[in-house]
Amino acid sequence: MAASAPRVAVIGGGVIGAMSAWQLAGRGARVTVFDRYGRGHDRGASAGESRIFRTIYKEGGGYVPLLRRAGELWRELEATSGRELLTLCGGLTIGLPEHPDLLSVRRCAREHELPHRILDSTQAGGTFPQHRMDRAEIAVFDPNAGVLRPEPAVQAALDAAESLGAEIRSYQPVDELAETATGWRITVDGHRFDTDHVLLCPGPWARTLLPRKEISVQARLITACWFAARDVAGHRPDRLPIAVRRHAEAGFSCFPVLDGVAVKIVPHHLGWPDLDDPGDLPRGAEPAFAKAASAAVERLLPGLVPHPVRIGTYAEGFTPDEHAIVGPLPGSANATVLTGFSGHGFKLAPVLGEIAGDLVFHGKSGYDIGHLDPSRFA
Ligand SMILES: Cc1cc2nc3c(=O)[nH]c(=O)nc-3n(C[C@H](O)[C@H](O)[C@H](O)COP(=O)(O)OP(=O)(O)OC[C@H]3O[C@@H](n4cnc5c(N)ncnc54)[C@H](O)[C@@H]3O)c2cc1C
Repeated sequence: MAASAPRVAVIGGGVIGAMSAWQLAGRGARVTVFDRYGRGHDRGASAGESRIFRTIYKEGGGYVPLLRRAGELWRELEATSGRELLTLCGGLTIGLPEHPDLLSVRRCAREHELPHRILDSTQAGGTFPQHRMDRAEIAVFDPNAGVLRPEPAVQAALDAAESLGAEIRSYQPVDELAETATGWRITVDGHRFDTDHVLLCPGPWARTLLPRKEISVQARLITACWFAARDVAGHRPDRLPIAVRRHAEAGFSCFPVLDGVAVKIVPHHLGWPDLDDPGDLPRGAEPAFAKAASAAVERLLPGLVPHPVRIGTYAEGFTPDEHAIVGPLPGSANATVLTGFSGHGFKLAPVLGEIAGDLVFHGKSGYDIGHLDPSRFA
C-alpha cells in the first residue's frame, strides 16, 4: 500500500463505521477501527435481528438517490461476503389515507416514479391477512422494500474492510481526541495513537465523544418485542412484507419471522425515552410497556400470540430534526462526523460509507447531503 495513503482512525464500529471502513480501505486508506465493544455487538443501534429497507421514503424524496445506491452496495457486500443480508420481501405502509406518512409515501412514489400499489382494506386483507385493517385504511405496497440482517451485515462490512487491509480493534474505547498540527492524536485505554484523519461514527455515544453544541444528538431507548406466530409459514418473508403501521390506537414497524418462531414489532406509539448514558440500557421492558405492546398486537396482528416471547433494548442517537449529521466536523481540519441517524440509518449505511470516503479524500461528496450538514445546529 502506498505510504502516502492517509491513515484514518474510524471511531465506532457499528454499521456506519463498518461500512465507512470498507469503503475507505477499498480506496487505499490505511484504516484502523476502534470500538468499545465487540464486532456486531447488541449494545448500540446496529443490532436486533432485522432492519427495514425501503425505497419509497416517508422521510423525503431527497433520499431516493441515496437509497438506490445503497441497494446496489448491499448487493455488492452480499457478493463479497457470500451472506444473505437483504431480502426484498416488499413493504407495506398501512394507515388512513390522510395520515401524514401515507401522504408522504404516495408523494414520494409519484414524484420519483417508483413502482408501488395502493390497496384498499378489502384488497389488502385478501393478500396480507396477517394485518387486521379498519375499513377506511389503505396499504401502500413497495415491491423494492425488504428486510436487512444487522448483525451479519456489520460483520460482513468489517470482514470486507479487514480483507482490504483495515485493522479492527475491539474493546478499545477512545477516551480523548486532540487535534495536532498534522492530524489527530487519540487516546485509547491510556495509549496514544496518531492519525491523519478521524472519522467519528459514535452513534448514540455522540455526546460523550463530542460534547459540542453542533453535535446535537440525544441518545434514546428503542425497545423491540418478538411475538410468536401461530402459523410460522404464513409469517415468513415470502408471505409477510415488512410493514410500517399507522393506526389511531398504535404505531409500529413489523418484521417477518426470521428466527423460525416470532414476528418482531418495534412500537412507535409508546415513546422512545431519553437515555443519559447509552451504555446503561435496561435489561427488558416495564410490564406496562409489554402490556401495551401486547394490546396493539391483539388488536392489529391476529395471527400472533399476544404476549412477547423476547424483548430487546437498543440505543439510537436522534437529532432535533431527525436527519443525521454527516460532514466535516465544524471548526476542525481532518475530521469527519457521521452520527444521529434518528431511527432510519441502517438501510442507508453502505452509501453513507461511500460518502465518508468522498469526505475523507475530497472534503465533499457528489451526493446531495446538504440537509445533513453538521453546522446546521451550530
Ligand atoms: C431498535 C432499532 C430499530 C431500528 N430500525 C431501523 C430500520 O428498520 N431501518 C433503518 O434503516 N434504520 C433503523 N434503525 C436505525 C439504525 O439501526 C441506526 O441508525 C444505525 O444502526 C446507526 O448506526 P451507528 O453506527 O451510527 O451506531 P451504532 O451501531 O450504535 O455504532 C456506534 C458504535 O460506536 C462505538 N463507540 C461509541 N463511542 C466510542 C468510543 N468513544 N470509543 C470506541 N467506540 C465507540 C459503539 O460501541 C458502537 O459500536 C433502528 C434503530 C434501532 C435502535
